[in-house]
Amino acid sequence: MTKEDIKVLIIGSGPAGYTAAIYAARAGLKPVLYMGEQPGGQLTITNDVENYPGYPEGINGPQMMMDFQQQAERFGTDVRTGLATKVDFSVYPHKVIIDDKHEITAEAVIVSTGASAKWLGLPSEQRLNGQGVSACAVCDGFFFRNMDVAVVGAGDTACEEATYLSKLCKKVYMIVRRDEMRASKIMQKRVLNASNIEVLWNTQTQDILGEQEVEGVRLINTSTNEVTEIPVQGFFVAIGHKPNTDIFKGYLDMDENGYIKTIPGSSKTNIEGVFAAGDAQDHVYRQAVTAAGTGCMAALDAERFLASKEVELAE
Ligand code: NDP
Repeated sequence: MTKEDIKVLIIGSGPAGYTAAIYAARAGLKPVLYMGEQPGGQLTITNDVENYPGYPEGINGPQMMMDFQQQAERFGTDVRTGLATKVDFSVYPHKVIIDDKHEITAEAVIVSTGASAKWLGLPSEQRLNGQGVSACAVCDGFFFRNMDVAVVGAGDTACEEATYLSKLCKKVYMIVRRDEMRASKIMQKRVLNASNIEVLWNTQTQDILGEQEVEGVRLINTSTNEVTEIPVQGFFVAIGHKPNTDIFKGYLDMDENGYIKTIPGSSKTNIEGVFAAGDAQDHVYRQAVTAAGTGCMAALDAERFLASKEVELAE
């Protein structure tokens, strides 16, 4: 195991992580940022971001994240590939193991590990993942040009995916488990106005059909109990997210869904010197701009924490 001592470690490379990096680097804290499993985070699998202030025409998600990275690097952030695989927050400075082979001790740690897509949990979904089953229309929609696909979910993500796919595919079925959608009105309107999207209300997925690749989906209408099969070549799951916080269990206080608890009005966790930002601690807003905002808070909180430590040492 290689070892390294640093001042500020940032885990995660979404808007929260990079914003924390920009602030920490400009404060001269020489942050090291590990990008994690999905460099750039969830925005790299999104289409146009139209609600981030400062981009009147909208911006493409991956481009936005490259800009975030460049800005963080410009002020001296050491951006690295690698995944935090284990932590020990019972010691100070805190220990974080990267890729099971590199041990970092850091005086302050900013957790900005975000969240990942949830799956329905069907064996067929797992078996056909990458063979027609996907959680990212922007990444995989291209493969289903002029074909029929289904999207499951009824939030903003599902609406966004269905709308995106409706421009590429012949027909898009949207599988909604209740008789209403959770998505914002504007997103719902786009779906309902698209001539080739058919919303299947009160409908649950029983199985995804096909051996080598997706050939269809078996559905049940929960109000009539009627079972139907529809032929589709693509099946997109858009049912929400799970925070990427498993490695912090036992150290950081979390809610029942694994979102890290922070002290209200701050990014402080229950462990001194560990701060949390972005979707890993936010199940309410979950926006790029709020993630960036909390990333800024985490860097400022870390900076103040380190300054108070220095005063302690000097006394
Ligand atoms: P949400 O948690 O908002 O929605 C998840 C959807 O999936 C719900 O409609 C839920 O149904 C459905 N669902 C959950 N589990 C199942 C299941 N097992 N079977 C069938 N359906 C299921 O997640 P999103 O990812 O859509 O959005 C997350 C956040 O990100 C939101 O705050 C959203 O506003 C935001 N967002 C904003 C965008 C934008 O503004 N451009 C784009 C994308 C997301 P039910 O309603 O019945 O619980």
